[in-house]
Amino acid sequence: MNPDTEPQPSTLQVGPWRITQIREARAPFLEAARVFPQLDPTGLTRALDRHGDLYATPDRARLIMTSQGYLIQGTVDGRPRTLLVDTCAGGPKPHRRPPLPDAVSPWLTRLIRAGVRPDEVDVVISTHLHHDHVGGNTTLDPDGVLRPTFANARHLVARAEYEPAAALARSTPRGGPAEHVHDSVFPLETAGLLDLLDLLDGDAVVGPGIRLIAAPGHTPGHSIVEVTGGDRPILIIGDLIHHPLQIDDPDVSVAMCADPHASARTRARVLADAARTGAVLLAAHLPLPLRVQARAGEAGFDHTLDLGLLAPRAC
Ligand SMILES: [Zn+2]
Repeated sequence: MNPDTEPQPSTLQVGPWRITQIREARAPFLEAARVFPQLDPTGLTRALDRHGDLYATPDRARLIMTSQGYLIQGTVDGRPRTLLVDTCAGGPKPHRRPPLPDAVSPWLTRLIRAGVRPDEVDVVISTHLHHDHVGGNTTLDPDGVLRPTFANARHLVARAEYEPAAALARSTPRGGPAEHVHDSVFPLETAGLLDLLDLLDGDAVVGPGIRLIAAPGHTPGHSIVEVTGGDRPILIIGDLIHHPLQIDDPDVSVAMCADPHASARTRARVLADAARTGAVLLAAHLPLPLRVQARAGEAGFDHTLDLGLLAPRAC
């Protein structure tokens, strides 16, 4: 990839909150045909072609995926507040292969380089409990013990997300499909740092102008984070969208979705709301902020990258 065309980590300001993308990786990754089994090969290539090389390799065989979390900083009642949304795949864990191809996650280093000490983090929000969103929650210490990375933080997860993930982990062996729950979620519970949120009315307030909103489908309790207080809302949407072709056609879910139909319904709802409010969307696996527009007389949405709010920040 050409480094000159690579989107760089960036910051945007929303009222009192400054939001910074903390990137872990950006690379050609999953096979497009495996991610989008709903689409036939011709339709998939056409859909990928519409959005070009920012999101897929030139032969369209693989998706170019970013993986990132978001840092939210502000001052509330005179006190600095530091929140994180998703902690990426993180560093090595004892019972599984390194989660990244190059085995070394730069995510925590980049967070620290952005000026944040781990002990300053007040809140860690997980949009959902897939391995590439929770791995940074824990760090292997020199004695081989996994410890919470953010020892002073409350870790917030929707109860509807935690319960099925924990049940799967408890019923499958270590090193199995839910090993990341064992190594990146249960240690938080053991340390008394985990708070389960009941999104009974569909949302929960987690700070001034910050809400966690139920957005189920990708996983049972998948949630998104809304930050308000500026000119327009910001929505940190987790894995609601993996490629902009899902904005063109919200019916298209990815193979990793636990409930593709629920995922499609949620995507259509969130995108319609975002088109109405002018919200800026920040996804876990898309490199840049974007805004969506409803198509007149047609299903689906158009989108534009929202670069106007961006300011580069070295991290
Ligand atoms: Zn993900």
